[in-house]
Amino acid sequence: MAGETKTHEGGCMCGSVRYRLQGPFTYSAHCHCRSCQRAAGAGYVTYSAVAPENFKVIEGEMTTYHSSPGVNRGFCNKCGTSLSYSGDDWTDYAIMTATLDDPGAAVPTTNAYTKDKQPWVTLDESLKNYHEFP
Ligand SMILES: [Zn+2]
Ligand SMILES: [Zn+2]
Repeated sequence: MAGETKTHEGGCMCGSVRYRLQGPFTYSAHCHCRSCQRAAGAGYVTYSAVAPENFKVIEGEMTTYHSSPGVNRGFCNKCGTSLSYSGDDWTDYAIMTATLDDPGAAVPTTNAYTKDKQPWVTLDESLKNYHEFP
């Protein structure tokens, strides 16, 4: 229902780190940049974001890796699952959509950094596609 306050939970593979999101998603997007590819060991990473105050770790502790100055990549130091992306220049707090208990809850609308897209990844042309950051 529109305007309804939604709560979503998610976590890492081993269950040590659990988080909760409150409120609406501010965006959902696939990022094809090389940094995301390496961080996740995958062709691209799908993010969904909320306002920073709507993100909370509710169990365990997230470890942070600074992949670029001012950028925080959160992960579980027991199982290695990539969990989040945030930074000094980012108004939203992004989580890896696939770590949600219900990953279908956020539907990606955008591809970012298609300049780094791997040749074996096919873009959904119905989405908004950006060469770099939108
Ligand atoms: Zn874990
Ligand atoms: Zn990226």
